[in-house]
Amino acid sequence: MNHRMESLVDWLLGDDPRQRVRAARCGLACGLMLYSAAGMTYLVLMGMAPPWPVAALVVVGLGGMAGFYAAIRSGANLRCADPSLTVPQMAFALAIGAVAYMLAGRGRGAVFPIMMVILMFGLYSLTPRQVRRLSLLALLLFGSAMALMVQLSPAIYRPEVEFAHFLVIAIMLPAVSMLAGQLSRLRDRLRSQKAELQDALARIQELAHRDELTGLANRRHMAALIEAERERCERLGGRLCLAVLDIDRFKRINDTHGHPTGDRVLGAFAKEAQAALRSTDVLARWGGEEFMLLMPDTPITAARLSVERLRTRVEAMRIEHGAGRDNAPLAFTLSAGVVELQRGERPVEAIARADRALYQAKQQGRNKVVSG
Ligand code: GH3
Ligand code: MG
Ligand code: MG
Repeated sequence: MNHRMESLVDWLLGDDPRQRVRAARCGLACGLMLYSAAGMTYLVLMGMAPPWPVAALVVVGLGGMAGFYAAIRSGANLRCADPSLTVPQMAFALAIGAVAYMLAGRGRGAVFPIMMVILMFGLYSLTPRQVRRLSLLALLLFGSAMALMVQLSPAIYRPEVEFAHFLVIAIMLPAVSMLAGQLSRLRDRLRSQKAELQDALARIQELAHRDELTGLANRRHMAALIEAERERCERLGGRLCLAVLDIDRFKRINDTHGHPTGDRVLGAFAKEAQAALRSTDVLARWGGEEFMLLMPDTPITAARLSVERLRTRVEAMRIEHGAGRDNAPLAFTLSAGVVELQRGERPVEAIARADRALYQAKQQGRNKVVSG
């Protein structure tokens, strides 16, 4: 679409996306009304319909639709319970259709398909109940129009023909209502399926990013976070530190108290660490009883202090575990290697340095933080 055309469409429909849809649908209905007016004019020219009543009907019909359009474009519709104004627009169009049927004389058969088009407008957006009511209104309006014309102009509106016409719309309208019900159920199903899919997707993403036992970020997610943070630092010139944390003599905890208690230690550690660390720090389970800590915007001295503080907190922790011969609360410690990512250094290289620092911490007797 070229620019001129775009600004014309904007001018016609406005900027609010929801109002645009309403204005566009109303515009379509105006188009249908205009088309019907042309049809009626044709009937007048062919001598089948009276000129002045048709002229009056065209003025009322187009004027009414212009009124709906103005209500939507001015925002006045927003005060209504259903701002799309679909029901009043359709009721109005059906009433105009019934009058057109009375004026169209021998050409009145053409009014039926147009009436069906009007009802189709509602199929996708109205509730089945609303469609049923509008169908009933249509039946009433057209039934009355037929009865009236049989009285006023029996030569053209012959009773047996009108009766047949009435039977036709009496079968068409329930069919439309049934279709509306089916469509509405289909819409509901699609909506709930969409919600279910969104839930499932969110759950899958959560599973893909989280470690199940500790609820921390998993290794894969952490690797992506480190890479993203490295890129950010390179662009903005920030500093970033990484620490590898490893629980001391964890094998012994497992061997003495059992694997489930080992699991509980890991969970308790994760909780304690998250409470101790800054909200911008990210802790991940890197493997087994080993954790990776990402500290954005942090120079090495501050990072070291932060990990040191965590180490003291962990040292003070006591884990209650099940009854047994030795059921005194369990204590454990942590060793860590901390590094700052150097300019141009790849994360794997920095992590290897942190691993070497961790190894030194273990060599120096554990329960230590070493920077590399
Ligand atoms: P060090 O002080 O040198 O780190 O000694 P360590 O015993 O902690 O080190 P090592 O790497 O030899 O042992 C780690 C143990 O952690 C071995 C493994 O059985 C245990 N482990 C790994 N993953 C889990 C887990 O998910 N749950 C439990 N309970 N244990 C785990
Ligand atoms: Mg260990
Ligand atoms: Mg280990």
